[in-house]
Amino acid sequence: MPLVSMRQLLDEAAQGGYAIGAFNVNNMEQIQAIMEAARETRSPVVVQASRGARSYAQDRYLYHLMLAAVELYPEIPLVLHLDHGNSPETCKSAIEMGFTSVMMDGSLMPDGKTPSTFEYNVEATRKVVEMAHARGVTVEGEIGTLGGIEDGHGAGVDALSHLTDPDQAAEFVKLTGVDALAIAIGTSHGAYKFKEKPTGETLRMDRLIEIHKKLPNTHLVMHGSSSVPKELQDIINAYGGKLRPTWGVPVEEIQRGIRNGVRKINVDTDNRLAITGAIRKVFAETPEKFDPRDYLKPAREAMRQVVMARMTAFGQAGHAGDYAPLPLEEMARRYAA
Ligand SMILES: [Zn+2]
Repeated sequence: MPLVSMRQLLDEAAQGGYAIGAFNVNNMEQIQAIMEAARETRSPVVVQASRGARSYAQDRYLYHLMLAAVELYPEIPLVLHLDHGNSPETCKSAIEMGFTSVMMDGSLMPDGKTPSTFEYNVEATRKVVEMAHARGVTVEGEIGTLGGIEDGHGAGVDALSHLTDPDQAAEFVKLTGVDALAIAIGTSHGAYKFKEKPTGETLRMDRLIEIHKKLPNTHLVMHGSSSVPKELQDIINAYGGKLRPTWGVPVEEIQRGIRNGVRKINVDTDNRLAITGAIRKVFAETPEKFDPRDYLKPAREAMRQVVMARMTAFGQAGHAGDYAPLPLEEMARRYAA
């Protein structure tokens, strides 16, 4: 099967009461880790690339690596998604390059830092929906502003200062027609999400539940949702790393989100931690080694383990063969109708 529509994966996940992990990639090893994890757990999956990834790897490399994944793993429904598109032009270039899903993050201005107005967000997102749906491509929007800065996205604001307003979220979905909606509930990008284990005050699951009540048929997306496990931090620090103590989003909280309309969960930091820990270990224990394969193989394996654990926890495991993916042309026909 070719790269498929994210909308269909999320619709199926909603029916089945589970969610889909969306994992960020920048290179071949990360794509391989995800695909092996997907095969082993029989999971449909979203692979996503940020603007930073597109400039690091170049679009053509990314696209052809994804085509290789499609060819090698024909049994896996696979989406290529643009993470945090900063303008309609960026989304357009991704669609033209073969992405089957795009995020238009109009919560920020095109600089990827400055919080925008509601009117700007609606206008930019609506434009992308029109262009994407005509080709059967899925659109994720964002309302509210996430904390932290990662790859040039995120406002660098306090994670609690711009939470998503439920009424505004409902209005936004009505005005734009997005397929999926990223919401701000206190999470942020990067490794330093919480200074201690999050409580109901810092991770506002109550807000998520309120939004879901207003938008029971909209697929909600959790960004900045790595769990930042202590074991992975410890490996890095045991082998010369200097991470400060930090907490992420506990998997149980994500599972609570899944019971309340969350259908896509973005995970990047956990994989970065796993990769870096594995590489540091090889460097520290066998400093005589210099073949990149000697540390990239354990790095890839460490990421595969994390991705498998998330696929199992999110419930997507076992669902790869549930349905026949629809061609984008068919999705376009459905949007037109
Ligand atoms: Zn994000």
